[in-house]
Amino acid sequence: MNTSHASDGAADELLRALEAAGCRLTAERRAVAQLIASRDGAFDSADLLTDSRRRNLGVARATIFRTLDVLTSIGAVERLDLPSGEHSYVRCDTRAHHHHLVCTRCQRSVDLEQIGMMPIIAQIERETGYRVDGHRVELFGLCPACQAIEAGRSGEGAETG
Ligand SMILES: [Zn+2]
Ligand SMILES: [Zn+2]
Ligand SMILES: [Zn+2]
Repeated sequence: MNTSHASDGAADELLRALEAAGCRLTAERRAVAQLIASRDGAFDSADLLTDSRRRNLGVARATIFRTLDVLTSIGAVERLDLPSGEHSYVRCDTRAHHHHLVCTRCQRSVDLEQIGMMPIIAQIERETGYRVDGHRVELFGLCPACQAIEAGRSGEGAETG
């Protein structure tokens, strides 16, 4: 597995995670790991299918779904519930707690270690008597590049989107 692509380290990590979860590393699973590793930011199964076709990898849609499910269940990939009601995925190291800030237009993603949740959670614990053991907060919006594109467009007149 010592090839020269920049994304190979990430692909290796995904493969190790799959192996640790007891998955056999079939050629198709290796291909899916490679596709995920070469993605920048958030992606969905349709993106992976498109990438697979573009590269003539011939990975079945079902394999993409199953591999994403396994990777999600072992925490190597995190499933994001988008404001639109759709789902997307982001490659993720869940060993260190963090949050994602995702651009809803280009899907670039930034990891945020601290978003000031602890004082809010402490207050919620006081108010409810619950002991809060975890939380998931994802943030969505427009990245600077997409804001610039939108600003350019709004100069052109009425846009309904
Ligand atoms: Zn992450
Ligand atoms: Zn947090
Ligand atoms: Zn963007």
